[in-house]
Amino acid sequence: MNNKHNSAEILIRGIVQGVGFRPFVYNIATSMNLTGWVRNSSNGVDIQVSGEPLLVEAFIHRLRNEPPPLSKIDQFEVRWGNSQHFDKFEIISSLEQPGMFIPISPDVCICDDCLSELFDPLDRRFRYPFINCTNCGPRFTIIQDIPYDRPYTTMSTFMMCDYCKNEYLDPKNRRFHAQPVACPECGPHIWLEEKRNEIAHGDDALRIARKMLKEGKILAIKGLGGFHLACDAKDKNAVSTLRIRKQRIDKPFALMTSDLNVVMQHCQLSFHEKELLSRRERAVVILDQLPHSTIAKEVAPGQSTLGVMLPYTPLHYLLLEPEPDYPDILVMTSGNYSEEPLSIDNEEARVKLDNLADAFLYHNRDIHIRCDDSVIRSIPGKEGPTSYPLRRSRGYAPDAILLPWKLPPILATGAELKNTFCMTKDQYAFISHHIGDLGNFETLSSYEEGIRHYENLFRCQPQIIAYDMHPDYLSTRYALERAENEKLIACPIQHHHAHIAACMVDNHHPAGSPVIGVSFDGTGYGIDGTIWGGEILIADYKGFTRALHLEPFPLPGGDTAIKQPWRIALSLLWNSGLEWEVWLPCIQGLNPKSIDSIQKQLVNHINTPMTSSMGRLFDGIAALAGTHQYVNYEAQAAVEFEALADPDEKGLYEFDTQAPLIRHIHLIEAVVEDLRRNTPLPIISARFHRSITEMVNNVCLQQNQETGIFDVVLSGGVWQNMLLLKSTFTKLERSGFNVIIHQNVPTNDGGLSLGQAIIAYHNI
Ligand code: ZN
Ligand code: ZN
Ligand code: FE
Repeated sequence: MNNKHNSAEILIRGIVQGVGFRPFVYNIATSMNLTGWVRNSSNGVDIQVSGEPLLVEAFIHRLRNEPPPLSKIDQFEVRWGNSQHFDKFEIISSLEQPGMFIPISPDVCICDDCLSELFDPLDRRFRYPFINCTNCGPRFTIIQDIPYDRPYTTMSTFMMCDYCKNEYLDPKNRRFHAQPVACPECGPHIWLEEKRNEIAHGDDALRIARKMLKEGKILAIKGLGGFHLACDAKDKNAVSTLRIRKQRIDKPFALMTSDLNVVMQHCQLSFHEKELLSRRERAVVILDQLPHSTIAKEVAPGQSTLGVMLPYTPLHYLLLEPEPDYPDILVMTSGNYSEEPLSIDNEEARVKLDNLADAFLYHNRDIHIRCDDSVIRSIPGKEGPTSYPLRRSRGYAPDAILLPWKLPPILATGAELKNTFCMTKDQYAFISHHIGDLGNFETLSSYEEGIRHYENLFRCQPQIIAYDMHPDYLSTRYALERAENEKLIACPIQHHHAHIAACMVDNHHPAGSPVIGVSFDGTGYGIDGTIWGGEILIADYKGFTRALHLEPFPLPGGDTAIKQPWRIALSLLWNSGLEWEVWLPCIQGLNPKSIDSIQKQLVNHINTPMTSSMGRLFDGIAALAGTHQYVNYEAQAAVEFEALADPDEKGLYEFDTQAPLIRHIHLIEAVVEDLRRNTPLPIISARFHRSITEMVNNVCLQQNQETGIFDVVLSGGVWQNMLLLKSTFTKLERSGFNVIIHQNVPTNDGGLSLGQAIIAYHNI
């Protein structure tokens, strides 16, 4: 407390630029008759304030406690003094210090003020698709360089008109220094193209686009972070056509609805899920579908859930404006062929999406960095429902995770699939937007561009490079090449250790306090050169021991087995010494030749890498029990197997858990026995899920006996299985464990880079 000093210097760090911080400071200071100044610096906002000591104190209290909605204060430093005198309070020009950086705001959905102007016929920006203000609009996707100023954004090509300029320069206006400010007179515009001919622009383009959607057409729509492909979600033919054109056979499509009431017609919606949908990040929220929903079943084949989001740009609100007979719920899937990166550029879209869309709704505000929609879901937590991220991208990136340590510049290059990379500087870990699967050339270039962009934005020149141990990951090759060329310290990190560390740091787990890490995953390279993925690790940030793991089994055909889970089913039977009986669902559809060749492979160990992967065990059991024998996206058999489980079933199978092996021979035998007795699939599925929960609990109790550790961390792709996550969480809590699960970064490989960076830091 201070009651004698009449002036103070305040230094604020965090997301404080481009979010209306200076006018906020200015308005409070002038309303309290204080004098001094505020300015942006290269690493935050600096304030000098002078006046009655009690008023200065009240001023500081308000800065701390009612900051603008988009700001995020990480550091707040006050230095008291007595000597300063000023005539008035002003906003003064920025101070540039080379090498400094500030966190950048993610893109933000349209705010309520702008939304009401959008639909106000008397407003200058009535029905203008690019309306925005200090509290809303594009940020990360339009920033080319720092400082965040209009000339360094893709808005630089638009000259502000006098009206916009006046708002931009007026500290009392809610568009003061809103860099993307624009109006119909001076800003970007939309137009509609059919067969590469412009057929309409402005409001006409919108009207015709809506009509086309209503008629069952497929539209490519340029959004905030890239193009979407859109069609009426209730139109079975439109959705099927989109699937065929996009070459995406079964993987679910995301939906966008006009408002929460529409969501409620199709999905179960808790209070917390409503809140998640309405958050300004506007992620896709995974919801349980209602049985009477009229959404075409082609939207999410074989699933009991739907991924839904609310509109986030003014253009989306205009597209979904409620009107009788017009679609109130649209498929909004990424504008690309399966596996390719999202299109962001008009010319690129015109070529690449030519065969996918019937018409194109374009705009001329360039997207500098592509950013896919984020995906989350609501799960029960220790203190009520909490959010569980599945993809952290638009709305979140490049927001930093605040670390309890000050780190040197580290670049962690992530995994191969669902890639993100992570860069650390000071107390920040900047996890990138979703890059995708590095398998193809386009994604790889977008990865390299992304890394360069982050290095520039955050003025970060990595000294250390952390990467996955898998020698064939493109992210690994990239890391090794850079380490060699730039003489960086190279840190190979084990995949499942990285998963556990990511979850630990995601939950601010202290260093030097080991956990029981249950890393259940698809695939990851083990230190013995085999494929791991069913791992119980005793781990801290520095290292780990492999306490137990799933008994390894062969994967006939390697990666082919992921697409053809019947191969895993046969391998599991073979590994357990069980016959390949012809009546088994996984044998029935096969021709004798395939069976023969798998047998030869297994006997002679030809292309049969050994794996302890829990994800693959799921695939194999799902196939064995009779779901898909062939799948067209990763873990499809397992995902549909989960959806089938009978919630009332109480039985289970058994694992043998004698360290270091978790054996599944008896479990396979029991599943075959159940199949022989014609036990329904939903019962087998429920029993299998329950047996894993039971096994995890037993193993954790064992490990607790040996180590005294009560903290259990659940991480890895298998924990996207909600049935398994919920029951295991509850069971472990009841056993007295402190269960730690992800809250800000995904449990799948999208969260891996964070773990890699932190492990590298603790090993240098
Ligand atoms: Zn706004
Ligand atoms: Zn204007
Ligand atoms: Fe993984």
